[in-house]
Amino acid sequence: MAKMRWSESCIPTLKEDPREAEIPSHKLMLRAGLIKKLTSGVYTFLPTGFKVLKRIENIIREEMDDAGCQEVLMPILHPEEIYEESGRLKSFGPELFKLQDGRKRTFALGPTHEEVITLVARDEMRSYRDLPQCLYQILTKFRDEIRPRYGVMRAREFIMKDAYSFHVSDESLDVTYRRLEKAYCRIIERCGLDFRVVEAESGYIGGNESHEFMVLADNGEDRILSCDCGYAVNLERATASEKDEKRGAPGTGAFKEVETPDQKTVGDVASFLGVTSREIVKTLLYRSGEKNIALLIPGDREVNGIKLVRILDDPEIRFLEPGEIKEFTGGPVGFSGPVGLPAGTSIYADNLIGSFDSMIVGANKEDMHLRDVVAGRDFEIAMSGDFTMAREGDLCPKCASKMNKSNGIEVGHIFKLGTKYSSAMKATFLDDKGKSHPFIMGCYGFGVSRMVAAAIEQHHDEDGIIWNPAIAPFDVILLPLNTNDAEVMKVAEEIESGLHERGLSVLTDDRSLSPGVKFKDSELIGIPLRVTIGKKLKDGKVELFQRATRQVDDIPVGDVLEKILEFAGD
Ligand code: ATP
Ligand code: MG
Repeated sequence: MAKMRWSESCIPTLKEDPREAEIPSHKLMLRAGLIKKLTSGVYTFLPTGFKVLKRIENIIREEMDDAGCQEVLMPILHPEEIYEESGRLKSFGPELFKLQDGRKRTFALGPTHEEVITLVARDEMRSYRDLPQCLYQILTKFRDEIRPRYGVMRAREFIMKDAYSFHVSDESLDVTYRRLEKAYCRIIERCGLDFRVVEAESGYIGGNESHEFMVLADNGEDRILSCDCGYAVNLERATASEKDEKRGAPGTGAFKEVETPDQKTVGDVASFLGVTSREIVKTLLYRSGEKNIALLIPGDREVNGIKLVRILDDPEIRFLEPGEIKEFTGGPVGFSGPVGLPAGTSIYADNLIGSFDSMIVGANKEDMHLRDVVAGRDFEIAMSGDFTMAREGDLCPKCASKMNKSNGIEVGHIFKLGTKYSSAMKATFLDDKGKSHPFIMGCYGFGVSRMVAAAIEQHHDEDGIIWNPAIAPFDVILLPLNTNDAEVMKVAEEIESGLHERGLSVLTDDRSLSPGVKFKDSELIGIPLRVTIGKKLKDGKVELFQRATRQVDDIPVGDVLEKILEFAGD
């Protein structure tokens, strides 16, 4: 266990918030001297930061080993051809860092290792008898993020634990997937963080399962809907689903034109007509391939671009330009509607359009809308689907209760890959009849360096970081106040070696600075327990302070080791 003297250590604390940092974890990592920036998205972990990183790594290693995974170390330098083979050169795009060797061969700095590991399996796992296997590593990854930010939270060079599993069947993959899901939960629990396992977008591969592990934090970049029943989902993936409340008045007579001069937005039209935006239907016009299509969504909802791309199976789909809208519908932007569009136009509708008895839509004419429009009577819907962004209050697909929205930091992501990489890279095994099949694969990523930031983002106060004891850089900080007082220093040294012998790590702040500065710094760096050796020593007492609860106890010097062990054991 480490025993460190502050006066001999590189713990460069800052009094003020650095200007470049926006969120608490980034400010505190810089202020507490955990990291130092080299350039955008590239950081050094200084001694205390590195200690936290190592403790998290060790927890991850223990849980991965317990789950039956084997640690390996793959190269960072990847020949570009392996990305050609997998077909990922395009999907990574500019995020892939590239460089050339002396013979002008192009290499990439590994952003993740599906390709490298698939090549290992292709050569080294030939038979069904070799499977299943799960290999993992803890390694620096490189991604040229468009917007590196929040310090190590979204960096261009960061540390990831990545694991890959190989199977003969979906059933076997499922066993490993569930086992790693549990291991991930234990890792985050052991680090003392509040989190949700959320259903995640599985991208184009379709039908495959994927879960993200979200540490709850107001500044998290991800949005989550969760339900008291335990179900949670990434907002981007969530199904928009409401209680069956009818929208729009029952459509009695034929639809009629109403003037809506200059009322272009849904809000404008609604207030002009004296209704709510719930009664209005937005008509969005897109170009998909060679065709123009219309999409109807409720006026109080937004379209979800990821769902649109997936349902229409068209990553290139785009909005029509104003000129194209005029040419296609005859009307200007803001007044489009489904009635009277050119024959053969496919009109898609969000599932929620089914709740409209009648609707208010654009008339495809300047300053005009139509009221009492009825789907099926006044226009035909080609297909209904879940096209809109879900929101807080939407219904849980498991128990139909209303879901709540929260923000999260994605620290882990697990994925059933199926045969995406093994098929592309011709990585196969022989079954018991000697027939060859592509491996069925899973991949499991965990953001080790991001986890340090996530822990701070969830656990801090105005004075600084509050480390969970499991990942704190030190178990105890000793604060001898008057370092010129021989008696004070003698007691500090006794406590220091006592703790050290009992397996606890100790930082002794032996700097000859004012007590105020030392107290402030100790709270900033967030060590769980602090022992102050100050004025009360003349009564034979030292002060024990617990950072998380701010509880203060005066303890006889003779009892302090025992007390600390008691608290540290909790
Ligand atoms: P994000 O959506 O945050 O960009 P991702 O989907 O690109 O993440 P994965 O490829 O699944 O991430 O990587 C696995 C894990 O690595 C993530 O869950 C995250 O914790 C971490 N990670 C990914 N990108 C970064 C980064 N730029 N900086 C720090 N950690 C990262
Ligand atoms: Mg990313």
